[in-house]
Amino acid sequence: MNEELYIIANWKMNPQTLDEALALANRVKEGVANTQGSKVVLCPPFPFISYILPSEHVEMGAQNCFWEGKGAFTGEISPRMLKELGCTYVILGHSERAKYLGETQEMVRKKTKAALEAGLRVVLCVGENEETPADAENLIVVYEPEWAISSEGGDAADSKLVAARIAKMRETLKTTPILYGGSTNSKNIQTFLQAGAQGALVGSASLDAEEFISLVKNAVS
Ligand code: PEP
Repeated sequence: MNEELYIIANWKMNPQTLDEALALANRVKEGVANTQGSKVVLCPPFPFISYILPSEHVEMGAQNCFWEGKGAFTGEISPRMLKELGCTYVILGHSERAKYLGETQEMVRKKTKAALEAGLRVVLCVGENEETPADAENLIVVYEPEWAISSEGGDAADSKLVAARIAKMRETLKTTPILYGGSTNSKNIQTFLQAGAQGALVGSASLDAEEFISLVKNAVS
């Protein structure tokens, strides 16, 4: 099994200005520069991606991509375009895209296939009642119950539940890293790692540079 630890920042539709995005990214890069033991990935909104370069310790990702390689698909972004801008990761299947945009599991499956074929690492969100995918090279799975996401007003999942869900997913996934997502912060991150998660997809706590840096440091300590 891959023992690497992944801390993946999902900025969602934040912050609102390029200045703020650059300040957040630069501070995170500086803050984790001497921290070994985890892969740190920033996933800003599309318009900011091209302004933020990956660094030695921080890789870049996107929050979505389309399943076709090119053509008449207004508003969509291909996996290849993301690679051109220095992205090595893409988050797919987030519950907010199903909830607000009607994204279906079939769309997520097609996007995952296209992104993997393009050579991106896919951070695939799997909700409480969704099927665990099969192992695939460059796939990372996140157990992310919708009710535990901070913007849903929920609390982080109980670590015993996370341990049980990860153990269940491990019956299918032998080599794919499994992370946890949902209201993680610098104080609770260790609980989830001890429950068997190989890292976290971090939403709101990734928008505060100091909190996110502490989360990364506490994860590897
Ligand atoms: C998310 O929505 O992917 C997420 C993990 O958000 P939060 O950490 O804010 O719960």
